[in-house]
Amino acid sequence: MSQQTAGIHHITAFVKNAQDNVDFYAGILGLRLVKKTINFDAPEVYHLYFGNEVGSPGTAITFFPWETARHGRIGGGQVGYTTFLVPVGSLDFWEKRLDKFQVEYRRIERFQEIYLQFADKDGLQLEIVEREGGPASQWTFGGIPADKAIKGFGGAILYSVAPKHTMEVLEKLMGLTRVGEENGLVRFQAPGDLGNIIDVNAEPMPRGAGGAGTVHHIAWRAKDDQDHRLWQSRVAQSGFHPTDIIDRQYFHAIYFREPGEILFEIATDPPGFERDEPFESLGEKLMLPEWYEPHRAEIEQGLPPIAVHVLAEDKE
Ligand code: ZN
Repeated sequence: MSQQTAGIHHITAFVKNAQDNVDFYAGILGLRLVKKTINFDAPEVYHLYFGNEVGSPGTAITFFPWETARHGRIGGGQVGYTTFLVPVGSLDFWEKRLDKFQVEYRRIERFQEIYLQFADKDGLQLEIVEREGGPASQWTFGGIPADKAIKGFGGAILYSVAPKHTMEVLEKLMGLTRVGEENGLVRFQAPGDLGNIIDVNAEPMPRGAGGAGTVHHIAWRAKDDQDHRLWQSRVAQSGFHPTDIIDRQYFHAIYFREPGEILFEIATDPPGFERDEPFESLGEKLMLPEWYEPHRAEIEQGLPPIAVHVLAEDKE
């Protein structure tokens, strides 16, 4: 049996304001802020992780909020839409909720499914779809009951500058199965039950520009370190240039740019976000890798204070 990823591990994007980011993803979408840390490559910037109650692989959307960043332009070489999965029967609830927070959305149909498409404050393109499958989130927040909560990712729409090549990478390297084509999108499926439906534009798309409101990379799941090392050698054997294995504290990572110019990461499921904080207080303290611990005071001083709180609209 050839190697297959179970689906998306996490998706990472750039935004401007950290508190706006918390208010949108925790306050409106009801995800749990499971980790508050810094960009290990730029310690003056937060790295915020939101997900289900523990940020399981397939649920974690992560951000680098950088106030002075310029806005990017969504386009080829990026994830175009990030898709969140909600329980069957909860789309009406989400429509009302987006209305309540004055988030503009449109209702569209594709591959016989209804999607609510909207954007966060920085213009990052998001959508919500109902589907069976995938474990229910155990996290409730604000006005969102557990049976309506976002379960994690449904998948994503990839915007490729060379879709034929991107699709070949998805099928031959990542082990996804092509399952359909409709209205200029080709659909692929991974074997996992979260983050497993990936749509790709059939015709090449003009290149976007990185910056606030765009996705930086999409990470795919590796089962463990052994599986991860195998991925690294298979990526190299396929003619791409994976990085060394990098310790991201909560997973191990390799990165490579696929020929459609989307930055792919492959990340291990373990150890996860409970590695350095207990379940009850995940995301509450600024967590630093040990090599930054001696600089904690100055790092904390350089970061804007943020707090997860129930928004006014949920108190009415
Ligand atoms: Zn990543």
